[in-house]
Amino acid sequence: MSVQVKPGFIEKVKKFGAFDISACFNCGTCTAVCPLSKDDTTFPRRIIRYAQIGAEELMISSKELWLCYYCGECSDTCPRQAEPGEFMASARRYAISSFEPLGVARLLYTSKLFTTVFMAFLTIIFGVIMLSKSGPMIFEKPSFFSTDKLQGFIPFEVIHTTGIIVIILAAIAAFVGIGMMTKKVSAGVKLPSREKKESDRGIFARFWSAVKYVIEEMTLENRYRDCEEEPKTPWYRARWFVHWSIMWGFIGLGTATALDYIILLTVGKDPGQPVPLWNPPRLLGTLAGILLVYGTSLALAWRYKKVDKYHSHSLSSDWLFLWLMFLAGITGFALEIAIYLPRGTVWGYMVFLIHVILGMEIVFILPFSKFAHAVYRPLALFIHAFLSDSV
Ligand code: SF4
Ligand code: SF4
Repeated sequence: MSVQVKPGFIEKVKKFGAFDISACFNCGTCTAVCPLSKDDTTFPRRIIRYAQIGAEELMISSKELWLCYYCGECSDTCPRQAEPGEFMASARRYAISSFEPLGVARLLYTSKLFTTVFMAFLTIIFGVIMLSKSGPMIFEKPSFFSTDKLQGFIPFEVIHTTGIIVIILAAIAAFVGIGMMTKKVSAGVKLPSREKKESDRGIFARFWSAVKYVIEEMTLENRYRDCEEEPKTPWYRARWFVHWSIMWGFIGLGTATALDYIILLTVGKDPGQPVPLWNPPRLLGTLAGILLVYGTSLALAWRYKKVDKYHSHSLSSDWLFLWLMFLAGITGFALEIAIYLPRGTVWGYMVFLIHVILGMEIVFILPFSKFAHAVYRPLALFIHAFLSDSV
């Protein structure tokens, strides 16, 4: 891979976070204290060096970028206050925005004004679409959807069609980003040595071992746990568990929605009819919602209180991500209450409308926002593990 050096590159990365690696004099303290550097004597210094010399392609294609979980130990001990932990997070944000050609991700990371205007615009657009064919609020009993057989507030068809269009648009943007990332990261993978190649395990064995490695990382968060704070922190307040709760809460809610839709298509039940609490998609949705609300409320509180390095510098993308998830979870539970009330209420219908709009917004901005790292991190780790045959 030929190295192209870009003067002024570091200034571009600085827009994505608060660090000063120009002050770094390569002392190696960050590598020594990093709980994740293990035998690697260049982690995280190599990435810092890439940014210092303007080697953009090397920086965004490196595996190390995705191995750091920002525990902040390096920032706490850096003698030059260069904030290497914040630099690693900023470099990841920069990398994500460089995989997205429209520039929306870059603006969501770097501009509060753009984020506010963009989200207000989405809220108005989705609100207008939902209310364009709305029916009456029925107060004899709550009836949120209207269908051929049912009178209700918002036509199921409107939600369904808008949802499908939003999913298709988000999927196109995600595929473009994934394609760009695969191309850039693959170009930077250190291929196995000749001796290793001679004992090549075969493409399927390598593929399987890379998949296992990524699944293990995602489900058990081994590295995140190695990067853990105070040893006495109870597991339910540990940062890795809060991260795990948000990730699996979100995945669980997505799965519950998809299952509900599949059942709707196959069994043909009316979407306006409430289902019992023990209905599998509903049960999964409720458990996932608890995880999501738990994780996001702690993460929000920690960011407001700036409890540590990781939580003391928040970008608009961090707030947007957490508030959207938190509000989606809270309105989901409020909706569960509203559905089972004997009578329909104005607040119940409004919560339903807000919940639907939030759901559309979350899916629409998935490929452009902080959500994207949930796809890019495992993908980068997979590409490196598969191509270099090392996990
Ligand atoms: S500890 Fe600070 S000064 Fe030393 S190598 Fe790391 S970033 Fe540079
Ligand atoms: S933030 Fe933590 S994991 Fe990342 S480089 Fe620094 S010490 Fe290592």
